[in-house]
Amino acid sequence: MLDRFGREIEYIRVSVTDRCNLRCTYCMPEEGVPPVPHAEILTFDEIERFCRIAAGLGISRIKLTGGEPLVRRGLPVLIGKLKRIPGVKQVTLTTNGILLKEQINELVYNGLDSVNISIDTLDAGRYEKVTRGGCVEKALEGLDAAAKFPDLRIKVNCVPLKDADEEEYVQLALLAQSGKADVRFIEMMPIGMGKAFSGKSKDEICSILRKHFGEPEEYKEPLGNGPAVYVQFPGFRKRVGFISAVSHQFCSGCNRIRLTSEGYLKPCLQYGSGTDLKKLLRGGADDDMIRREIERTIFSK
Ligand code: SAM
Ligand code: SF4
Repeated sequence: MLDRFGREIEYIRVSVTDRCNLRCTYCMPEEGVPPVPHAEILTFDEIERFCRIAAGLGISRIKLTGGEPLVRRGLPVLIGKLKRIPGVKQVTLTTNGILLKEQINELVYNGLDSVNISIDTLDAGRYEKVTRGGCVEKALEGLDAAAKFPDLRIKVNCVPLKDADEEEYVQLALLAQSGKADVRFIEMMPIGMGKAFSGKSKDEICSILRKHFGEPEEYKEPLGNGPAVYVQFPGFRKRVGFISAVSHQFCSGCNRIRLTSEGYLKPCLQYGSGTDLKKLLRGGADDDMIRREIERTIFSK
């Protein structure tokens, strides 16, 4: 459906947990997030019901995220349920990749269309520091396991940090050169813990990559569902993308809403406002009432 600015809202990010097996410095406190009692988290049946109603309003693409979505037991089952909803064209996942190797077969078997793997650096020591203890080898094993499925689209996402070495971005871009994955650089957003960090802009990363790989061509064909712009460097088999919320704002083209793991529907990542859908889902509301609340939230975006 259209929001009041005429933007077509057809994409939702659904968080299935706030918990994570890493502690990236710009995302989570060292001690992790305060544990939310399991009973407060939407069940898979509740998520499915919500998505079924939202699909009736034109939400056709669903991204599962977190926290770390793969720490929630049974995620492939949820993917299967969501893929069976009429009108849902795509179910995708954003993960740090640590648990991907062991789950990829089931995820793909249940219909996963695409996976984003967050790897900020390939340097083992830097990765361990940024994630507070993570092992980059594990994430790379996840990437390799996913790469065995030729129909699964894979994107590697990196949030470039101010203090990182140029070589780290060159190494990541080589994943696109070899054809293993599209590689995207996501500007640090001043939200949550990220407020205390500064990152590198699209222009800074692009000029580093230009020095090493030559002049890229703009890649015009649509790729994915989001605000990324893509380029292709000479001889590269896959693309390099940039998501630049700060230096190149993209609010005018924003097509998404978000559902938190506790069932709060948010029209924008930046603002706290939204609608407590769990109350409706658990309070006996019928589908029409829930549909009206989703419409109202989208319209308020
Ligand atoms: N744990 C999963 C992962 O890391 O992909 C999914 C959730 S994580 C919050 C999703 C993405 O948001 C990751 O790529 C992460 O690097 C990015 N992210 C977290 N905080 C950010 C910030 N302040 N600015 C930009 N991206 C951020
Ligand atoms: Fe966990 Fe993802 Fe946040 Fe890193 S970015 S702490 S992996 S949720």
